[in-house]
Amino acid sequence: MTEHRTQVLIIGSGPAGLTAGIYAARANRAPLIVSGMQLGGQLTTTSGIENYPGFEEEIGGLELMERMQKQAERVGSKLLYDTITEADLKVRPFVCKGDSGDTYIADTLIIATGASPRKMDIPGEDKYRGFGVSYCATCDGFFYRGKEVCVIGGGNTAVEEALYLSGLASKVYLIHRRDAFRAEKVLQEKAFANPKIEMVLDSVPTEFTGTENPLGLTAVKVKNVKTEEERSIPAHGVFIAVGYRPNTSLFAGQIDTDEAGFIITKPNSTATNIDGVFSAGDVKNPLYRQAVIAAGSGCLAALEAEKFLSVNE
Ligand code: FAD
Ligand code: NAP
Repeated sequence: MTEHRTQVLIIGSGPAGLTAGIYAARANRAPLIVSGMQLGGQLTTTSGIENYPGFEEEIGGLELMERMQKQAERVGSKLLYDTITEADLKVRPFVCKGDSGDTYIADTLIIATGASPRKMDIPGEDKYRGFGVSYCATCDGFFYRGKEVCVIGGGNTAVEEALYLSGLASKVYLIHRRDAFRAEKVLQEKAFANPKIEMVLDSVPTEFTGTENPLGLTAVKVKNVKTEEERSIPAHGVFIAVGYRPNTSLFAGQIDTDEAGFIITKPNSTATNIDGVFSAGDVKNPLYRQAVIAAGSGCLAALEAEKFLSVNE
């Protein structure tokens, strides 16, 4: 069990955390970045990124994040493979504990813990998780080659996942609770033009059903919200893409959040209600969750942490 002492502790290794690391390291603060369970963050679960500036050709999510990580380390950030399980923000300096048993003592803290997929909370979801129910097409899609699958949701993630799965599965049912998608128009057009994707609109899943032995999903029950008609769609895999929830439970009762749990920061700033604690990326942004925005706010968090340290030195 090691005690780590730092001026800047960054929790999270997605675009927000790694960019904060690049800026804090270049300010000579030798930041520590604690990676969490998902080194590189959410983008590591997607195949091709077309909207991150600087890459005229599509770049893989994993490759982009590996490059960001190498850049952060090259300029002087130290990456630690641990997950923070406790944080005491009432004491100065701040004290965090890791899953490894290590302790982190920090003058400033940048919370960049991002967001995780939301569950549907319907019967069968937990039972078939890992046995047909998935939250990541690029991670698990391979298991459903030549089979029928469903995707649930109407946002960018759902439509991208349906398009990705259409290259593997025999058929993709895209189930959405309304008749209009919130996904970008360019993605919608691709999905509607794809002969392997069948739209199941105005419909909500009510149950995931399957076999016991071996345990495995065989169908998704859906209900049409306009006609109340119910049907069972045959599927070996279902990919749930109904949005994300912020990873803030660790700071419950210490940091101000909105009703959904997103960290509240001061206007045009990454400063939280606690002096010396800053927050960047999806964990504080309920609206436009994009990698470039996360990276930008990671930069701002590092600049604001630097100013805080200079003023308080
Ligand atoms: P995240 O990427 O969520 O990273 C959070 C980090 O915090 C992770 O490293 C995690 O391990 C760590 N963490 C969490 N809890 C702890 C803890 N207790 N201790 C230590 N570490 C912790 N955006 C685009 O701009 N373009 C795209 O094409 C695009 N495609 C996407 C495709 C998919 C399938 C998904 C899901 C998202 C996509 N996005 C895209 C959105 C983009 O991924 C996010 O906006 C971005 O990753 C947010 O970055 P972040 O650093 O705030 O958080
Ligand atoms: P999202 O935009 O919040 O969309 C969630 C979808 O799930 C919505 O269509 C919503 O329906 C539906 N939904 C929510 N709860 C539901 C429930 N209980 N039952 C059935 N359906 C439900 O989430 P996202 O698609 O994961 O995107 C998250 C963020 O990441 C967005 O900001 C997105 O732009 C970004 N992202 C970007 C890219 C890209 O740039 N290419 C790719 C992926 C993600 P309603 O529409 O009716 O509300």
